[in-house]
Amino acid sequence: LPELPEVETVRRDLQAELTGRWITAASPTGVRTFRRYPDVSDVVGRTVGRRLVTVDRRGKYLALRLDSGDAIVVHLRMSGQLLVVAPPAPLVRHTHAVFAFSAALESAALESAAAPVQPEHPNRIGEAVELRFVDPRTFGEVFVTTGDLPELAELGVEPLDPDLDPAGLHRLVRPRHVGLKALLLDQRVVVGIGNIYADEILWRARIRPTRTGDTLTKPQAARLHDSIVTTLGEAIAHRGSSLADEQYRDLYGAVGDYQRFHNAHGREGQPCPRCGSAIRRVRVAGRSTYFCPRCQR
Ligand SMILES: [Zn+2]
Repeated sequence: LPELPEVETVRRDLQAELTGRWITAASPTGVRTFRRYPDVSDVVGRTVGRRLVTVDRRGKYLALRLDSGDAIVVHLRMSGQLLVVAPPAPLVRHTHAVFAFSAALESAALESAAAPVQPEHPNRIGEAVELRFVDPRTFGEVFVTTGDLPELAELGVEPLDPDLDPAGLHRLVRPRHVGLKALLLDQRVVVGIGNIYADEILWRARIRPTRTGDTLTKPQAARLHDSIVTTLGEAIAHRGSSLADEQYRDLYGAVGDYQRFHNAHGREGQPCPRCGSAIRRVRVAGRSTYFCPRCQR
């Protein structure tokens, strides 16, 4: 299940790979993927002939912003993957959308880039490419929208927003008599953190997952803030985590690397890298939760 680091990795790759290119064809075939549409010809009409200006992320939503003011919004949910391939690569099963993009034009891409262009990825493809949405379980979604989405208004703070400081985080959790694991998972409080990173963040902060927000001291809130920034930052640097199912793939179909650096999640019975106690697994907020019973208080 992609979380913020995985979605942000895909966003950065999309930004570097596709910004400045024109959409030359669109094939929105997945009925469930395009479930907001009675008629998918609207998707074709609003995307073909448009140029990609920039790629934003809010929580786990990706917005591919077009020069018309519309955005192609993608939510990967459980098993969605966005893949860039050079045609004529054969279509894999469960491909529910294909957007063909023109070849990258060096000057055009630079001129139109609203955000700084990322350093060139080793896999970067200069020729015409297809962006494909593959989703075996079909919980993921793609749609085209103008302006902001109503559901975005419900979302909580971005954990990597530079405006969110330790005091701001403390103010956010302090009024809530809810366990911190549940708070971190609640997208109305803070966005993009799922089961893996909630465990890793609380391990690094030395805070027990069941500890409630209203008992958090200022120094603990500062530790939690530091842990959120460090953990998510490291995970993005390692291009996200892919678990045993290898469901999460980046834009080029490669798995992430951060699972090798997990300290708590998925490590039941193994020694805590900090104190050597056995990592314990319990059920918290309806989810398998891993923590160190000795150094997380
Ligand atoms: Zn420990």
